[in-house]
Amino acid sequence: MKIGIIGAGIIGLQVAYKALSRGIDVTVYEQASELGFGASGHNAGVLHVLQPPFINRKARLAKKANPLYDKLSEELGFRVRRLPLYLVYTSRKGKFLGSLASYLLRTTGYKTSLASRNEVLGNCPELSSDVIGGVKVEGYGTVMPREVLWALAKGVEEKGGVVKYSTKVELLENNSSKICVKHSNYSECHDRVVVAAGAGAANLVSKDLPRIGYYKGVMVYVKLDCNAIIAPLISSSRSKKTKGGGIIPLPDGRVLLGPSFEETRNPWDTSVSPEEIAGTVNLYSYLLPSMPEVLGADAGTRAKNMSRDDFYINKKGRIILTAGIDSPGFTASPLIADILLRLATSL
Ligand SMILES: Cc1cc2nc3c(=O)[nH]c(=O)nc-3n(C[C@H](O)[C@H](O)[C@H](O)COP(=O)(O)OP(=O)(O)OC[C@H]3O[C@@H](n4cnc5c(N)ncnc54)[C@H](O)[C@@H]3O)c2cc1C
Repeated sequence: MKIGIIGAGIIGLQVAYKALSRGIDVTVYEQASELGFGASGHNAGVLHVLQPPFINRKARLAKKANPLYDKLSEELGFRVRRLPLYLVYTSRKGKFLGSLASYLLRTTGYKTSLASRNEVLGNCPELSSDVIGGVKVEGYGTVMPREVLWALAKGVEEKGGVVKYSTKVELLENNSSKICVKHSNYSECHDRVVVAAGAGAANLVSKDLPRIGYYKGVMVYVKLDCNAIIAPLISSSRSKKTKGGGIIPLPDGRVLLGPSFEETRNPWDTSVSPEEIAGTVNLYSYLLPSMPEVLGADAGTRAKNMSRDDFYINKKGRIILTAGIDSPGFTASPLIADILLRLATSL
């Protein structure tokens, strides 16, 4: 069987790697000249455990896929930093909500406990002393997203797969027994095509998709002594799109603040203005007694399924289609790839 995969983001590469392990022939087409052009190269690198609303498919996929990264990192040689998450609070009301949340989460299978101020500050000593405690959630991790992409692409090539860079697929065409991808002046035909084009999916297959929106997330890298992910139990932002943001220690020792999300019209927007940096740092400033040294900033744009708060995965004839793979799509990608491969190999 021959599968063509459009997009060398985390989804396309996970599908390619798994397909090759099952003896399937794959070619990955990537419009950019190198890896990391899309959301998979510009994200916060968190291996999520908790994802509101907790029980939908997207949340369940991420929770189940998260531990798979340990084996994958051994196999491919990228770094995973395991650390807990503290959902912190600064008021008695927060403490009450925290106790309730911890209890409810525990009864639904999450490893949670209530942590004292000393425990939270022990893990993240530079936090403000206004923090009076937190809900500890175990099982989190962080990765360097581009390191994961490079390792996967290397794994794909070592198993005999082909990744074609600077190859933008412009059209998909059915002939009697194959599905052909057209790029530049020529076309190549496969038994199935997996569209894992992230924010580019709507250009290729717009009529089959739900409404897709685009959200740019700004992330600021700072110097901070912290060995746990810290997120406010009650977000200071009014936007629902900021869910998931926090103080995030990465495997390379830097700490990320954010992401803070805003709607955008440009699906590949990675620009960052000084105002966006200040706005993002500001979201967390009440948790920090002084402004940490800023080491740099990045932004990434994710495509979101506006019809339901879930990933869009579907099969149309010989085309297996993903769109709106927003957070926690990086975490969930090993299991999303399993679903896509199952669809690709079923009749
Ligand atoms: C700021 C931010 C922070 C995030 N943080 C996290 C997090 O901490 N944890 C988590 O689990 N998830 C996170 N996410 C979500 C996660 O990054 C995405 O869900 C995931 O990366 C989506 O992967 P993808 O492969 O679908 O898309 P992409 O990574 O965008 O890959 C699509 C690829 O397809 C290529 N392409 C598009 N059109 C074509 C075409 N016509 N021909 C050829 N190639 C094409 C693109 O160039 C791109 O490389 C975050 C997202 C953002 C934006």
